[in-house]
Amino acid sequence: MKREEAKKEIEKLTEELLRHNYLYYVKNEPEISDYEYDMLLKKLQKLEEQFPEFKLPYSPTSRVGGEPIEGFETVKHSVPMISLDNAYNEGELLNFNERVEKILGNSVEYTVEPKIDGIGLALIYQNGILTRAITRGDGIQGDNVIENAKTITNIPLKIFEKVPEYFEVRGEVFLSFDIFREINKEKEESGEDVFANPRNAVAGTIRLKDSKIAAKRKMKMYCYQVITEENFLPESHFERLKLLNSLGFSTPPHVLKLKKIKEVIEYCKKFEETIKPTLNFPVDGMVIKVDNVKLWEVLGTTAKFPRYAIAFKFKPEQATTKILDVTFQVGRTGVITPVAELEPVRLAGTTVKRATLHNFDEIKRLDIRIGDTVFVEKAGEIIPKVVKVVTSKRTGNEKEIIPPEKCPVCGEKTVKFGDEVAIRCINPSCPAILKNSILHFVSRDAMDIRGMGESLVDKLLEKGLLKDFSSIYELEKEKIANLERMGEKSAENLLREIEKSKQKPFHNVLYALGIRYVGQKAAKLLARHFKSIDNIINASGEEIAEIEGIGEKIAESLKKYFSLKHNLELIEKLKKHGLKFETEETEEREQPLKGLTFVLTGELENFTRKQATEFLESLGAKVSSSVSKKTNYVIVGKNPGSKFRKAVQLGVKTVDEQFLLNFAEKYKK
Ligand SMILES: [Zn+2]
Repeated sequence: MKREEAKKEIEKLTEELLRHNYLYYVKNEPEISDYEYDMLLKKLQKLEEQFPEFKLPYSPTSRVGGEPIEGFETVKHSVPMISLDNAYNEGELLNFNERVEKILGNSVEYTVEPKIDGIGLALIYQNGILTRAITRGDGIQGDNVIENAKTITNIPLKIFEKVPEYFEVRGEVFLSFDIFREINKEKEESGEDVFANPRNAVAGTIRLKDSKIAAKRKMKMYCYQVITEENFLPESHFERLKLLNSLGFSTPPHVLKLKKIKEVIEYCKKFEETIKPTLNFPVDGMVIKVDNVKLWEVLGTTAKFPRYAIAFKFKPEQATTKILDVTFQVGRTGVITPVAELEPVRLAGTTVKRATLHNFDEIKRLDIRIGDTVFVEKAGEIIPKVVKVVTSKRTGNEKEIIPPEKCPVCGEKTVKFGDEVAIRCINPSCPAILKNSILHFVSRDAMDIRGMGESLVDKLLEKGLLKDFSSIYELEKEKIANLERMGEKSAENLLREIEKSKQKPFHNVLYALGIRYVGQKAAKLLARHFKSIDNIINASGEEIAEIEGIGEKIAESLKKYFSLKHNLELIEKLKKHGLKFETEETEEREQPLKGLTFVLTGELENFTRKQATEFLESLGAKVSSSVSKKTNYVIVGKNPGSKFRKAVQLGVKTVDEQFLLNFAEKYKK
């Protein structure tokens, strides 16, 4: 391609991709499939590699992250990023309204918007192009985290409408609960410390020095303020949000403009009770602003806060209660977790009786003692945790929590590895470890044996029917049926489920074994790379560590696991029972062409018509015999027929045989 052509093509692709990005992430109305988007992105990437001088500063290829950086540049905010005064009840909202009406009279309109519990960010656009993204910092100056901000898919890298030369947009960056739980699950599986709540997670993510990792965390941003030439902006704050929206920014959902403070209070209550519980992102209150921005200056500020707005804070999902006792749980990896047994208390709609204390460092840090009155909190997690001790309620009778020297279940001496926080039981035949390993083995993401819940596993262990994973496959109908609360029918059902689990693919089996640090993701990567357990057993540590996404820690753990004779024997036994220890062709194949319709015309050199059809179908595509508007691609061989003309007429995309060959190479036909 000639330089001039390349430059034009890069510009065209960039604009096209940014538009699709906006349609997908901001408007939620995609026009093309994910696959088509990826193909366009790859095309652009390739051109940018060939002609780096033409890469645009707002190229969508920067969404996936770039090279790690050394540190952040500190930048002063154009206008300080202020915080708002808080109101904790109706009375304080009425007071706020009174102060406003005293100055502005009683026909004030308010905009009410949810207060996202994330971290503040200022986006600076120069001539419509995103050039800096500054964290709130101390409100006066913050860090320029532009590389990470670019990975946030609902932030426009370029504003397509004409805007003033300097254009600043502020808002809140956050993580959804789903993503937050996913990140923590992964951290847990790889033995790292988890984030306490979604806000901590996003605060850590926005300051990562490796934007490639930040890109994987899928942050989002809702914008609520714009700073630019005033005459470009409408007077109404509500209209400004709409303007931001039309310029390609996401603004918070559920924003209303209301006339009376009574309506405002009603809406805040309604939101807290009925809307907040349905949201997938953290909201800790409502922000109430005088809608007419021109009046903000008239109102001025108090010593600390502006008078035009207030944040109404929701009741925190916290409660105080008493720690009656602390018990110790032994997990499947032998880690002993202290658990607080609480005086039952209502919290976020449920009764809470227990809370996790994480580990003994955490107990020391918070200085928690048995008998203490404490705050418990739920933060996007299912199990609540203790966050603070009310020391003023101490009587002097509280008891210190002492890490157990012996396993509370088997009585063996506990150990602590190196600088790890955790205290462990390392007795391989500890009943607690066996029980939790089995519960993991049968869990949904592993072997998915329905009906094998905790109480049944308890009974089976009690009767000595479970010694290791392989004994699950040796259970006899009669013995199950004789268990308390079981019977012929439920025994049959269970055996059917057990039999069914043998069909689970290799990566599920690998994950089910519960090898330390081998989570679902690692199991999939290993299964895809090595194809069989024998290949993994025979691989060297370096070979395993080299796989992208695996690393030394997992490699070491695998080598250690396979060095133990009883583990190898267990695998042999499971093999004999028919569990899958090899990757099968069909499960491995991805379906990159899912949802796309193809038509073939003309002769192909490397495929017969039947082969080409089967291959496309194996990648998830539909192959049709006639061209219509619904056709996505026509593959054109030598001497094409009328289908080719029809495709051109209808404007359907045409590709040649190379298209198939590229896929054949990638997916190893
Ligand atoms: Zn034990």
